[in-house]
Amino acid sequence: MYSVIRTVFKEEHEMFRQSIKDFIAREISPYNAEWEKNKMVSRESWKKLGDNGFLCIQAPEEYGGLNIQDFRYNAILVEELGLSGCSGPAIGYPLHNDIVFPYIMHYGTKEAKAKYIPGMISGDLISAVAMTEPGAGSDLQAIRSTAVDKGDHYLINGSKTFITNGYLADVVVVAAKTDPKLGAKGISLFVLDKNMEGFSKGVPFEKVGLHAQDTCELFFEDVKVPKENLLGKLGEGFKYLMTELAQERLIVGLAAIALAESAFLSTLAYVQERKAFGKSISDFQNTRFKLAEMGAKLEQGRMYADQLVALHNDKKVDSAMASSAKYLLTELQCWVSDECVQLHGGYGYMWEYPVARAFADARVQRIYAGTNEIMKELIVRKLLK
Ligand SMILES: Cc1cc2nc3c(=O)[nH]c(=O)nc-3n(C[C@H](O)[C@H](O)[C@H](O)COP(=O)(O)OP(=O)(O)OC[C@H]3O[C@@H](n4cnc5c(N)ncnc54)[C@H](O)[C@@H]3O)c2cc1C
Repeated sequence: MYSVIRTVFKEEHEMFRQSIKDFIAREISPYNAEWEKNKMVSRESWKKLGDNGFLCIQAPEEYGGLNIQDFRYNAILVEELGLSGCSGPAIGYPLHNDIVFPYIMHYGTKEAKAKYIPGMISGDLISAVAMTEPGAGSDLQAIRSTAVDKGDHYLINGSKTFITNGYLADVVVVAAKTDPKLGAKGISLFVLDKNMEGFSKGVPFEKVGLHAQDTCELFFEDVKVPKENLLGKLGEGFKYLMTELAQERLIVGLAAIALAESAFLSTLAYVQERKAFGKSISDFQNTRFKLAEMGAKLEQGRMYADQLVALHNDKKVDSAMASSAKYLLTELQCWVSDECVQLHGGYGYMWEYPVARAFADARVQRIYAGTNEIMKELIVRKLLK
């Protein structure tokens, strides 16, 4: 049996975990295959998450939130979604909770918070964050979308690509240049909503994995954005991105370890059932050694992830630490899912087997939220300081 001693979570967290587990078993897992075919989760699932109090739990009561300032609950939601193997939901829901919501909560004007946060809590409003453009991914300073001050509003033009939750999104945090001459200091963040004239979307991309995720392009053609939809101060967008990306990278790392554990658990069951040469696959020394290697590294990864959750709860995880977490845990996920496919033989390559999906879904984890090469840049910058 694969099990890890855990000290970070208390009784109240475990009760929350059980309610999430029950919810996932009832409302997520049975629908995941259908969502993969549709290239998106259902809108209804967002509403159900909201009805059960699983969205934006940090939000203050004045917006209808639970005001729970304990990151361990966020981590449990990510972990349980990951363990369920439903990777689309494991990425899309936390992106709303732990990545987009903080931008609006931390930097939004009173008007923007009042307009968007109640709907984000209830699941009526689905959110996304749009930084990447066709010509600018790793090199964010090279974005070309512009926001021009027109006195009583900003006029936004440009396009974004690869946007998670993009097709369903009602609310999108968008990075645009407010002063193209200033490089990073010329970037600002805005909240756009899908009803704004000139805002349109592409169809969801055909991706290698994460099939239940509605990743798409967004287009802005003379979109009039009210002044109160500017996040924070003009020209400080890049700074805000660098601050908030630490939690995004930690979340990707937490999803990675849970998705890896999910692939490993299904493989543990499979190798004991499957027979070859008159014995179980698990009787071969190679299989036993592979399982031991994976079990040991997953235990190490899980303890590391738990420690990061505790540290982040105390606001002690900096950019380099979050980058290390994203880098190490996503590399672990990719290695584990590849080994798990091998232990399944040909069945591991069949989409109906969870391990085939785990393999396809894992790959992108090393690419988004900053590629692992960019993570190494951020890690070494701190080392050489
Ligand atoms: C499924 C999916 C979902 C996504 N969701 C979102 C989202 O919700 N919002 C959003 O804004 N973006 C999103 N992205 C975009 C993602 O963050 C970018 O794809 C990523 O940052 C890499 O940018 P790029 O694709 O332009 O690659 P490039 O930047 O062109 O990189 C190509 C290669 O060059 C390497 N490279 C680049 N610069 C350096 C360097 N300085 N040193 C060493 N190597 C370097 C990279 O590591 C990579 O291997 C998503 C992408 C995918 C695939």
